[in-house]
Amino acid sequence: MTSRIAATLLALATIAAPAAAQSARIVVVNGDPPGVGFNDPTPAIPVGGNPGTTLGQQALNVFQFAANRWAANLQSKQPILIVAFFLPLNCNATGGVLGAAGPNWYFANTAPAAGGQPLEPDTWYPAALAEKRTRLDLTTDIDPNDPFDIFTFFNNQLGRPAGANGPSDPGCLVGSGWYYGLDNNQPANRIDLLSVVMHEFGHGLGVTVSPTSSSTGARPAGLPSVWERRMLDLTSGKRWIDMTNAERAASALNTNNLVWAGRQVTNVIPSVLDFGLFLEGISPVIPSTEVNPSAFGPQLKGGKSLQGYVVVPADGGGPSPFDGCEPFPAGSPIPGNIALINRGICAFSIKVKNAQDAGAIGVLLANNAAGPLSPGGTDPTITIPSFGITQALGNTLRASATPPLVSIGLDPLIRQGTSSGFARLFAPNPFQPGSSVSHFDTTLTPSVLMEPSITSDLTTKVKNPFDLTLALLRDIGW
Ligand SMILES: [Zn+2]
Repeated sequence: MTSRIAATLLALATIAAPAAAQSARIVVVNGDPPGVGFNDPTPAIPVGGNPGTTLGQQALNVFQFAANRWAANLQSKQPILIVAFFLPLNCNATGGVLGAAGPNWYFANTAPAAGGQPLEPDTWYPAALAEKRTRLDLTTDIDPNDPFDIFTFFNNQLGRPAGANGPSDPGCLVGSGWYYGLDNNQPANRIDLLSVVMHEFGHGLGVTVSPTSSSTGARPAGLPSVWERRMLDLTSGKRWIDMTNAERAASALNTNNLVWAGRQVTNVIPSVLDFGLFLEGISPVIPSTEVNPSAFGPQLKGGKSLQGYVVVPADGGGPSPFDGCEPFPAGSPIPGNIALINRGICAFSIKVKNAQDAGAIGVLLANNAAGPLSPGGTDPTITIPSFGITQALGNTLRASATPPLVSIGLDPLIRQGTSSGFARLFAPNPFQPGSSVSHFDTTLTPSVLMEPSITSDLTTKVKNPFDLTLALLRDIGW
């Protein structure tokens, strides 16, 4: 008996030694026809550690690199198959679909093979996770012609100039284009393909409330998704799994109050997210209200805070005097004060730069619609802090008869982007198809991989202390 145990332990130690043997294997299957997409023979110069010499090969290299990075963070005895397409998607001069991915199949109530783990009963699982837990090749069993766990398609038209496909062609994100490097070192006018592929593969692996509809709350066959036990609405105190369809649909719009209540994510929040940022009115008294730091300019850190009077300066003209898009004239009330400027017309960084040039010590950027505002953008020449505030707080400050004295500082008991200690899910009102619910909220700071839009500081690491995605996947059973 004793020797058998010793032999077993030795065998385990031997098998466990190579790390690669424990990791998942993720295979990207090129779904494109000859000559286009991943098979595009247009010559390309190797860039940022990507050795490909054609456009198609470089794109495919990025996809497999992302697959390998994900695989190194996951364990599964079943290979994960991703079918990928690089093809024209909806796009115009200034906006377009970058890419998408999702589980190719969902499974419920499948008994595991020997050594596998059960699925939660009557619950839909994304294919890759269902196979990891059951140790079965469920996709091949259900359709040998469609054995893929994840599907993905990406737009290969970024940067197409206007008129390229005839006189009525508006072009596609003109002046932009993918960056194919593997080093997150994209120039300012390029979009990092690796970041976007990492994000989309995250959806394919299970960062999605699907197959439950995030807009109607309806469920195929009436069964919940594996997400729903971890989704909590702080207003009703109910989890999604305990709600009616109508309650889920309403909860999807409950900004700041729909949260991820999984233990793994909640445990790593203090190592990933910054302290919460709040504005308090000293005179007149305004209760402490959450604000959001801009992505550019200095950040308040440690015990630092900003105090000052809030002024509402008129700029030099344009569509609105309060958009801050034109330089502020001499004699404006800005010097030594905090400028309150409205969202819209031009980039946040232009508004803040104009205020800085006029002598502001900080800027409050007021939203022009309901909901929080996390100002994005870059400008390394900005040296004053700026913050996004709600439209309501902007109105309150503007209504004061004299310039309000405010204090903006950090609360070490709260993390930015959390409510009651839980990470917020993206729940804007009105609903945003394709973005609502199946992402973390934009107020999480710093930005995390699974936020709904691409930011320049997007991480491609998936683990704490950089990111919450792996913790979320562990919460659902990875
Ligand atoms: Zn997404």
